[in-house]
Order: sequence, then C-alpha cells, then structure tokens
Amino acid sequence: MARTVKRAFKYRFYPTPEQAAELARTFGCVRLVYNMALQARSEAWTLRRERVSYNATSALLTGWKKTQELAFLNDVSCVPLQQALRHLQVAFTNFWAKRAGYPSFKSRKRSRRSAEYTTSAFRFRDGKLTLAKMSAPLDVVWSRPLPPGASPSTVTVSQDAAGRWFVSLLCDDVIEQVPAPGMGSVGIDAGLDSLLTLSNGEKIVNPRHERADRQRLAKAQRNLARKEKGSANRAKARLMVARIHARIGDRRRDHLHKLTTRLVRENQTLVIEDLTVRNMLGNRSLARAISDAGWRQFRTMLEYKADWHGRNLVTVDRWFPSSKLCSTCGALADRMPLNVRSWTCRCGTVHDRDVNAARNLLAAGLAVTACGDGVRPQQETSRTGRSSAKQENPRATKGIPVL
Ligand SMILES: [Zn+2]
Repeated sequence: MARTVKRAFKYRFYPTPEQAAELARTFGCVRLVYNMALQARSEAWTLRRERVSYNATSALLTGWKKTQELAFLNDVSCVPLQQALRHLQVAFTNFWAKRAGYPSFKSRKRSRRSAEYTTSAFRFRDGKLTLAKMSAPLDVVWSRPLPPGASPSTVTVSQDAAGRWFVSLLCDDVIEQVPAPGMGSVGIDAGLDSLLTLSNGEKIVNPRHERADRQRLAKAQRNLARKEKGSANRAKARLMVARIHARIGDRRRDHLHKLTTRLVRENQTLVIEDLTVRNMLGNRSLARAISDAGWRQFRTMLEYKADWHGRNLVTVDRWFPSSKLCSTCGALADRMPLNVRSWTCRCGTVHDRDVNAARNLLAAGLAVTACGDGVRPQQETSRTGRSSAKQENPRATKGIPVL
C-alpha cells in the first residue's frame, strides 16, 4: 500500500547581499504584523470580550498598509504577512482548544526568523527557486533529491541564530507502507543512564560527541558573559555560542532521525510514556536529562513517521508505578529510589530498572490498543498536519492498570 504525505525538504542556501537584505526586511515585517494583530486581538478580547477572526485581522493589515507610518509593509511580499496572520489564527485555535498557552509576542532576538511563501509568491522551475520581489533564483545546496516531479506547495525561508540560511519546501511524497516484520511491538522508556531503553532490553545512548560539545558550549558561554555589553567582541562571542548550539542541535536531530526511522520500520506498535507527568514530579536532574535527550523532538518525529508508515503509536500516562512493578509476576516492590539501577523481585527475576519499566509500558500500551482507545484526535496545525512541539495531546488512559 502506498500513501501520499506532505513532507518538508530542507536545504541550506547562500543569499546575495540584496537577497539577504530583502529577507531581513521581510522577517521584520512578518514579526511586526504578527505582533500588531496579536495586540489587536488581545485588546478586543480583554476590553470588549470580542473574538477577532482571521478575516478581520486580514482587513486590519490592509488598513495598516494604507497608513503613512506602515507604508513600508508594501515593500515586501504580502504573502508571508498573510501567512503570519494564519499562524496567529492557528495559535488561537490551539489556545481555545486548550492544546497550547496564550499566543505570545515574537521577539526580535529570541524568536525564529522565518517567512512562509505559498505558490503565488515563488516560482520553482527547472530546479531553480525564485521568491517574490527577487529577480535571481536562490543559491540552494540541493543536498538530497526532491521526490520526482515534485511541485512545492509552500516554501519557508529561515535564518538560525548562527546566521545560517535555510529553505524548506513542502512537497507531496509517496511512502510505500510495508508492514513491520512479525508485526512486532515495542515499549520505549526515557532512561536516566541511556537516552532510551527498549522493552527488548536494548539501550540507546546519546551521540558520542554530545559531552565534548556541551563542555565547549559551557566554555563559550562563560566567555560571552565576560564580554562588555554592546561591544563587537560580545557579538562575536554570541555568534560562537550560537554556532555550538547549532552543531549540537544538528547532531541530535540527525541521531533522532536515524533512530525513529529504525524504530518505525521494525515495529507495528510503539508505546511511549507521557513525560509531562514525570516532569511534574519535579526531579530537576531528571528533567534536565529528558530535555537534553530531546524527548519532545523524538516524540514529534515518532508521531509523524508512525503516521506515514501506518504504525500504531500509543501514548500512556504513567500514573502507575512502572519502575516498582515486576513485569514478570506483577508484584509491587516497596521502594524504588532513583539510584537503584537493578533489583530482584520476590519471584526471583532480576530486573534492570529501565528495561522493566519499558516492559510495563509496553503491556499498558497494548492494553490501551485492545480497548480500541489508542487513537488520539488530530491537532490543528498550519499546514503539515504535524504536531508542533508546543502542543500537548489529550492522552489515552483507558485500560491502564491503576494501582
Ligand atoms: Zn516478580
């Protein structure tokens, strides 16, 4: 069976100085329009209890462009500005559905610099990509092929904190759905010592370079802290920090992509735990380990890849003591401090703490699937149907043993 999915293909590109200036202007206008529309919507709600629709913000934008102070909004392509209003609409929809917090203002320094172009605002022909308001195509490094005959529906241009430029093309791609060998299933536990522990006993560790990079990052951050505010040296030090961050992020993403692809290929049912529960337990070192491991990123990748390949992904709440529960006989151990890495049950089974937890997770997940309640509602997203990291799903809980 084959399935057509929307898939983003991301590449680096090198803009000319004119293109870089045009894009920087566009990013600025996108941020401004988003913030002004958010301000208008917030005021309407707090002062008059009115909900402002996307169409109403669109009309506001038309008005702003006619004023003298905001006439510069006419200098950039109007499409990314409209898209910013759509993104705001999605943010509000997610807020009303209680999937996300109240939308926040975009900051000049901290927010992602990006602009989204739809088909009317770019041309993709003979392998060349040209954006609105530009005469020459972008100098894109086509590091991997697009699907044959691809025709992008959306193009997103962005620049990261390290100054690198990226373009992401959203295309239709055909995925061959092949059932997993043996229709196997796996429980995946976010461990302490290792990045992940699987119910089959396999432990997956963090990328080898992570520790060295982290030390380099700490050094660069100390260096930055010593530099005088507003100085050229401080700007240089900040760029160095951003570059190390970018490298850590790249390597982790690469590692997680390989990992999630393998897990989805090998298994028909994948069971993961909901870590928001664990974070609420307030163990700081654990929370840190989880964020280091990029659990959210892992989960997002696993979600869309499971969907692409026709796999069942089950998320379970962990309100039951999976570490203390023997996966062999079901007996409950008395205490299980975090420093206990292995233990022996009364039935005689010797357990590795994390493997035992992953096994219990798998059993709980399969119980959920058996009850036919493993399906979660789709989230509202701007275009890809993918979940973004900010949103949380309502979780399937039915059928999990409550102890
Ligand atoms: Zn036992």
